[in-house]
Amino acid sequence: MYFQVITLFPDMIRNAMQTSIMGRAVGTGLVDLDTVNLKEFSQNRYGSVDDYPYGGGAGMLIQCEPVWQAYQRAMENIAAHAGEKSDNGTQEKTRVIFTSPGGKVFNNDLAKELSTADNLVFLCGHYEGIDERILREIVTDEISIGDYVLTGGELPALVMMDAVSRFVPGVLHNDVSAETESFGNGLLEYPQYTRPSEWKGKKVPDIILSGDHKKVDLWRMQQSIHRTAERRPDLYAEWLRNRGIY
Ligand code: SAM
Repeated sequence: MYFQVITLFPDMIRNAMQTSIMGRAVGTGLVDLDTVNLKEFSQNRYGSVDDYPYGGGAGMLIQCEPVWQAYQRAMENIAAHAGEKSDNGTQEKTRVIFTSPGGKVFNNDLAKELSTADNLVFLCGHYEGIDERILREIVTDEISIGDYVLTGGELPALVMMDAVSRFVPGVLHNDVSAETESFGNGLLEYPQYTRPSEWKGKKVPDIILSGDHKKVDLWRMQQSIHRTAERRPDLYAEWLRNRGIY
């Protein structure tokens, strides 16, 4: 998996991707990361990449040409990374994601689907966004991380890279599977406990300490179902539908 992030703030991406599980994944080469600094492709001597929107309105927009050139750089990086000379070979396995509140809302299924690509290029917006013409030219997926507006696309890109990487073989330890966590089976995860077995008078449920794995599994499944029904009726209804119950 090769991530590239086209951004005005490459340090923000690099710093965040150096820590914890993502840092290990990058360090061991399970995922590769490069950033492309949009400012390098400024068309003026001030180093800016934005201008006023035609038709008026608040704020500034990122212009087409810097994004186009940054995209070309990303494609060159991909060709070099893959050791391939043909553009066609790389295009097939590459998705170019514009992070946008107006996009399809990101979820676990989409993370899993994206993890099957070889290259993911994230285009991070800033200011009021990006000129629509370049988006229509290069973007394959427009994705939102939720119904709220952030100041830039860097955090959404980081969120998506983290969630996608969990599906890349080897990124998680062998005993942890992205499939068994929340959403993996369509349900939220059951409650979990660790030592001590009693803390401030609160005891771990007896069944968890019983050592009877069948009973523990059943209890966990019941808890998952109950928790999902209570907290996420939308997910619960889908889970029932998928089993032909509803
Ligand atoms: N004018 C835009 C609108 O109303 O949809 C919002 C622009 S926002 C201030 C600047 C950039 O942050 C966006 O271009 C996008 O890249 C990123 N962004 C903000 N909220 C986001 C979200 N919920 N999901 C993904 N990206 C987001």
